[in-house]
Amino acid sequence: MALEFNVLNTTEAGGRRGRIHLPHRTVETPVFMPVGTLGTVKAVAQDVLENLGAEIILGNTYHLYLRPGHEAIRRMGGLHRFISWPRAMLTDSGGFQVFSLSALRKVTDEGVRFRSHLDGSSHFFTPEHSMDVQIALGADICMAFDECTEYPADRKRAEESLRLTLAWAQRSLDHFQAHRHEVPWHEELGGKTQSLFGIVQGGMYRDLRRESVERLVEMDFDGYAIGGLSVGEPRDLTLEMIAEVLPLLPADKPRYVMGVGYPDEIEMYARMGVDMMDCVLPTRAARHGLLFTSEGRLNIKGKKYAEDQGPPDPACECMVCQRYSRAYLRHLMHSGEALSATLNSIHNLAYYLGIMEHVRKSLHSDGGDS
Ligand SMILES: [Zn+2]
Repeated sequence: MALEFNVLNTTEAGGRRGRIHLPHRTVETPVFMPVGTLGTVKAVAQDVLENLGAEIILGNTYHLYLRPGHEAIRRMGGLHRFISWPRAMLTDSGGFQVFSLSALRKVTDEGVRFRSHLDGSSHFFTPEHSMDVQIALGADICMAFDECTEYPADRKRAEESLRLTLAWAQRSLDHFQAHRHEVPWHEELGGKTQSLFGIVQGGMYRDLRRESVERLVEMDFDGYAIGGLSVGEPRDLTLEMIAEVLPLLPADKPRYVMGVGYPDEIEMYARMGVDMMDCVLPTRAARHGLLFTSEGRLNIKGKKYAEDQGPPDPACECMVCQRYSRAYLRHLMHSGEALSATLNSIHNLAYYLGIMEHVRKSLHSDGGDS
């Protein structure tokens, strides 16, 4: 069963207004996906996420595999039921965390051996194993197991890494197709299944990126992600790679840029034709007291907010801005209160989700046929 994706409108600049029909939710695109690393978007409860209008959230395969373990989650009916999230979910392949978090990793053609960042125990991840874990977790969208090429990487290294990622993409796809019916909610949802996205790599080399797209499109995934960005490269290079890859991807499949970005970036990429994005930034920055607002970035720790009774963002309609003052948010932060992370995160997520809502409206009215 192929993934159903409708493009409702396309603008001259390439931006698309669309709709992805997933087993747990029909998602309006372009969409921003809050990151719920360990089965929680840090400091924000699921009912609040629903009220904020989040339609799809991420889970991290590496983290959930280590704790509480994918078999435990499978026995409890899958990640949706375990964390009580009725809407759509996406899991990453575990590759990015294996490469960035774990110690003593050793990569071979077969897979990656690594040590847990929690207790040093030894684990071996292959494309097949990543698929098994993601099928047990049961997110609506799974990602092919890839190697995230570091930055900077010389040409030989980027070529080698791409070769590995392409071989792993085919193995991921083969294993996924043979086992996708084993997802915990397969029967409950009338035979619906998960989807699998391929990940474009190739470092910062345009021709390698093109080769990566060509080969992945031949394999025929349900959607395509652009990976290996936001790994320390300058922003203009990120943009250059996205601009190179986007027009080459099939117009009738969702396009996902992983791990970006700042508010101005997600808006720009969405207007270029990116359908899906995720980033830890709104919640991570919130825990450090950084708020994204219509007036720019605001560091709530600042002394000048000590008695500021205005809302965090005067233009924001979120539940935090409607109720609390800058002075109170500053006080919570300074006192190390748990509510600080919660309120700051809710506002930042509302801001990010609001940007996408605004972009969706303007893409709908901007030229093209609808
Ligand atoms: Zn707000």
